[in-house]
Amino acid sequence: MAAFRYHRPATLDEALEAAVRLGPGAAYLAGGTELLPDLHRGREAASDLIALDHIAGLCGVEEPDPRNGDVVRIGALTTVAELARSRSVAERVSALAEAARSLASPQVRSLATVGGNFCRAVPCADLPPAAMIASARVRLLSAAGMREIPASRFFIAPRVTALHPGEIMVALVIPAQPLATGTSFQRFTNRRGIAVAVASVAARVTLDGDHVADAAIALSAVAPVPALVSGAAELMRGQEPDEELIERAAAMAAEAAQPISDLRGSADYRRELVLVLARRALTQALSRARTARGAVA
Ligand SMILES: Cc1cc2nc3c(=O)[nH]c(=O)nc-3n(C[C@H](O)[C@H](O)[C@H](O)COP(=O)(O)OP(=O)(O)OC[C@H]3O[C@@H](n4cnc5c(N)ncnc54)[C@H](O)[C@@H]3O)c2cc1C
Repeated sequence: MAAFRYHRPATLDEALEAAVRLGPGAAYLAGGTELLPDLHRGREAASDLIALDHIAGLCGVEEPDPRNGDVVRIGALTTVAELARSRSVAERVSALAEAARSLASPQVRSLATVGGNFCRAVPCADLPPAAMIASARVRLLSAAGMREIPASRFFIAPRVTALHPGEIMVALVIPAQPLATGTSFQRFTNRRGIAVAVASVAARVTLDGDHVADAAIALSAVAPVPALVSGAAELMRGQEPDEELIERAAAMAAEAAQPISDLRGSADYRRELVLVLARRALTQALSRARTARGAVA
């Protein structure tokens, strides 16, 4: 691996200042599970690595407080293992907990961070689709100040995000979910154990009585970037959910996919997988929404 200088700022201000001072050759380092293998393979080059793991306030899932709108704030340096263990996350967006539990292996999950999974922007990243269906927002900090953008607008192209040069992702923010809501994350891999997804689908269904009040479907590994399926909410809203509606929504998801053929599967195979996974995700999300509705009735 080519040599690099290592920096360990203690505050966000120091990290931002270092990024400005060191220029485009510098990269932030979180868990290193993406960046270090990429540096090793020569896929990425960096003269300086700015480690974020000593900065207070970037780690952990903040317990939601109903007085603040019941928002769940997940620090960008929160490990995927911690996310998978969080009760607050599992209770509010089970799909996100499921995505975290399915990512890689216990060893990788104990290092990999939420921020790194977003900021590397690989097309098959597991956490983004589960965050998008919950209308999550990405909180970003630069010398110009703090801004927030929807997770669904964070991804521009493979390995390209909406981050400005030197900007730090500080948190993923999940808004309060309506009461009768269910979510699900479904992922297909070619083998058990550590394997990246051939296709994955996250879905949310929110009920108002017997009708769909809102819904969302998001895809990963079947397009240049993880993305919401546009039109899914409009198709399902106001309808009484049944097998036919789920079938139509799943077909819409398969149609929205832009898969490629590679050694993990052909484009046709991936599109078929999206149909099957979307059907499963919507069915489970609906069942969970009905259970949640029963609990509040
Ligand atoms: C064996 C193996 C299996 C894997 N399997 C999966 C899998 O199944 N699913 C999956 O989704 N991923 C998988 N990954 C990829 C990886 O583990 C995850 O994407 C992980 O979440 C990346 O986080 P990190 O903290 O290690 O990021 P790092 O490698 O530290 O950083 C990744 C990139 O994001 C930037 N960055 C990191 N944090 C910030 C921040 N807060 N602000 C701004 N920029 C930042 C870095 O500069 C770098 O460019 C796997 C990796 C390995 C090694």
